[in-house]
Amino acid sequence: MSKGLLVVLSGPSGVGKGTVCSALRKRVPELIYSVSATTRQPRLGEEHGVNYFFRSHEEFLNMIAEDQLLEHAEYVGNYYGTPRDFVEKTINEGRDIILEIEVQGALKVKEKFPEGIFVFLLPPSLDELKDRIQGRGTESQATIDHRMSVAVDEISLLEQYDYAVVNDEIDLACKRIESIIIAEHCKINK
Ligand code: 5GP
Repeated sequence: MSKGLLVVLSGPSGVGKGTVCSALRKRVPELIYSVSATTRQPRLGEEHGVNYFFRSHEEFLNMIAEDQLLEHAEYVGNYYGTPRDFVEKTINEGRDIILEIEVQGALKVKEKFPEGIFVFLLPPSLDELKDRIQGRGTESQATIDHRMSVAVDEISLLEQYDYAVVNDEIDLACKRIESIIIAEHCKINK
């Protein structure tokens, strides 16, 4: 049996990775989602084990020490990481999995899984990105400024990815990513 695809959806904060990823999962229900661990506080409506595994700082450091994470990154004062076993089990069972993670983590996954499919989600423009970061309405001005400067640095890493997808419209962005997955399954020399 051939292995499943490891699809990494990344891109700057505020570009809409979360929204595109949930729309894509509705469109492609067989695509398994990797639930990350994080030390950040749950936002309203978020559930443990569904959106994230919410961990204390100490618990997270233990996960790192026990090598339970495929990658981890510190992002705006919190840790985020991808549980390794679930990812490996899923692809070994021949099922496709998607990781929705920030750019530093995505590049770490690439070192371990160069055969992964790395998709960079782009905003239609930087102005649009700023509007989206502000529009979320949950962050302070300092956090917004910080996220914007991180985003500009991150876009420069685009060349290390396999595909660039512009998030101009959610449906279109999903269609592009679904097409990438279909094409990857049709590849002869994988
Ligand atoms: P948020 O706090 O808005 O849910 O996520 C902040 C950032 O962390 C987003 O860019 C999100 O994609 C990223 N992120 C979520 N889970 C992971 C993970 O497991 N690893 C890494 N490196 N980034 C993650």
